[in-house]
Amino acid sequence: MYLPVVKQNRDYDRRNIDFVYLVGFAFCKAFFLLEKDMKALVLFSGGLDSSVCLGLAVKEYGADEVLALSIYYGQKHKKEMTASKRVAEFYGVKRITLDLGEIFKDSNCTLLEGAQAEIPHEDYADQLSKTNGAPVNTYVPYRNGLFLSSAASIALSHGCEVIYYGAHADDAAGNAYPDTSIEFNRAVSESIYIGSGKALRVLAPFIDKPKAAVVAAGAAIGVPFEMTWSCYEGHDKACGVCGTCRDRRRAFEENGMTDPIEYEE
Ligand SMILES: [Zn+2]
Repeated sequence: MYLPVVKQNRDYDRRNIDFVYLVGFAFCKAFFLLEKDMKALVLFSGGLDSSVCLGLAVKEYGADEVLALSIYYGQKHKKEMTASKRVAEFYGVKRITLDLGEIFKDSNCTLLEGAQAEIPHEDYADQLSKTNGAPVNTYVPYRNGLFLSSAASIALSHGCEVIYYGAHADDAAGNAYPDTSIEFNRAVSESIYIGSGKALRVLAPFIDKPKAAVVAAGAAIGVPFEMTWSCYEGHDKACGVCGTCRDRRRAFEENGMTDPIEYEE
């Protein structure tokens, strides 16, 4: 009489163990899907261009499938990190941050904290007239190459199939920022596509378009421009006179619009 009772108990224990394993597996699977199953990563500074990219990605895939990546790199305008948080919350997307400041600690780029020289308060065209074909002094050394590579690794870890990248033609004009050019984008996109086993591609919807086209695209889908931050200075209000403030204001004017953010001058 004793042995069958033991066997019965063992069967009962085995069923319990199987059930625990099943529940555990289902939980892990659900957790894996929640964490991994995203479609698009947006390289997201909190500026106007990347905010429009975020809006486009959400429109295409839905907020649950979009991951925003905001990178700190020692920039004076830390305010863009705050802007990126706000815009990501507006869209309801998951946002992750990455600190790459150490990589640029020896750079004398004027955009970075600790730089000796001031950020130029003039148009890019005027700045370029003095550089003899070299990038402007707010060019951060190979920043977008580094960012896209970092984004690729993170995107693959989250199962994404596309990286949105907000470079536009005005930034590349005159070799101001060579890592925003069509040639660069073609090369780095191919590199990421091949290096990811053809799992990941780069989408740069404005690579051959002026900033005015970025504003027009953003206006068409209701991007909250008032939450974005473009100025290179780290002041309370946008300076209005650095190269990127000038470009931004002009882009709105060309669309017959007024930029909703406040300027110092
Ligand atoms: Zn400015």
